[in-house]
Amino acid sequence: MLAFAYRNGALCAEQVLLEDIARRFGTPCYVYSSAAIESAYAEFERALRGRAALICYSVKANSNIAVLALLGRLGAGFDIVSGGELARVLAAGGSAGKTLFSGVGKSESEIEFALEKGIGCINVESEPELERVDAVARRLGRRAPVALRVNPDIDAKTHPYISTGLRENKFGVAHEDAERLYRRAAKMPGIELVGIGCHIGSLLTEAAPFAAAAQRVVALADRLEGAGIRLQHVDFGGGIGIRYKDEAPQPIAAFVAGALAALGTRPHRAVFDPGRSIVGNAGALLTRVEYVKPGASRNFLVVDAAMNDLIRPPLYEAWHDVQTVREAESPSAQRVYDVVGPVCESADFLAKDRKLAARGGDLLAVMSAGAYGMAMSSNYNSRPRAAEVLVRGDSAFLVRSRESVEQLFALERIPG
Ligand SMILES: *Cc1c(COP(=O)(O)O)cnc(C)c1O
Repeated sequence: MLAFAYRNGALCAEQVLLEDIARRFGTPCYVYSSAAIESAYAEFERALRGRAALICYSVKANSNIAVLALLGRLGAGFDIVSGGELARVLAAGGSAGKTLFSGVGKSESEIEFALEKGIGCINVESEPELERVDAVARRLGRRAPVALRVNPDIDAKTHPYISTGLRENKFGVAHEDAERLYRRAAKMPGIELVGIGCHIGSLLTEAAPFAAAAQRVVALADRLEGAGIRLQHVDFGGGIGIRYKDEAPQPIAAFVAGALAALGTRPHRAVFDPGRSIVGNAGALLTRVEYVKPGASRNFLVVDAAMNDLIRPPLYEAWHDVQTVREAESPSAQRVYDVVGPVCESADFLAKDRKLAARGGDLLAVMSAGAYGMAMSSNYNSRPRAAEVLVRGDSAFLVRSRESVEQLFALERIPG
């Protein structure tokens, strides 16, 4: 599914001209394609047809409530990492019962909020957290549905900042501790053990490490069953990569098949929590060139989007394709540019060494920005955050207004 394509020389999101979106809503502006999100979700559904399964979209990748509502209507559950994300899921009409609560640092009030709302499962990541969940549940007179997130000690072969399944990472309980913790949890009156999970990292291109982690977790579920601990689901995590540049990630179906093969004919419900692979290529960041700034050694396109809008390039040295919204007519007009923002940091770049034909006032689209774009944005340099627009066919909806400068300091006070 191609969310963005040129029509008569003008880049469109589905059937909407990006030029029209810029005119109506201004820049910088995130633009998402509903059809691309639906089509990525459908890939998971197809691969899981005939199986007891739940696709829990990882809210942290893109938490706009319009995106959550779209996925909720398709039947998705959600994977959250904070009470704030649960509030978003509920505001979007999502179901708490189909929501998993992950993350290493859940506070007491977050656990309480999740239990009161009827969370589907709390993915516990340490022994002290298990004790806290038990205590909060007993205080509320409830039993908390719990899975342990197990660290399978598998190298996901991805960037060290986004690898999570190795012994040295902060995530999950060590594989060799898991059985003891399950036995302990089984005796806790506030805990109802419902599942087991893992998540080995992000931007995976190969299904093999994903399948290896699945095998280790399923083997552990078997041992637990031998010890009388019967679980209802196995959560295989997310982390499936997308193409940003020239990566060729294996298709979603290959990852799902690896996990389902590990599960075999066991009756457990198969759970996946994809984020990037659902929304990553469904979004672009639309920005306008403020200045063309030629230099002695480098030429710059200074644009109105910056690292506060999209931090992936400086943070992970991530590569995002940049396209001119007007299709380049002849390659001879192209020069090599760094695309940079107005923020006062040398790390403020969106792209480096790109051949582009652009003049002041032209629009550019930074591609594959649907995941970890707006969700990781900030107000650094007192820059109001970008607007967000969701496209469906020939219609464009403003799903988050551009912030105003006044909103940025509305909560601040000068002591009297
Ligand atoms: C971040 C995260 C995901 C989603 O990762 P993607 O790379 O966006 O698919 C899934 N599960 C857990 C537990 C996570 O922390």
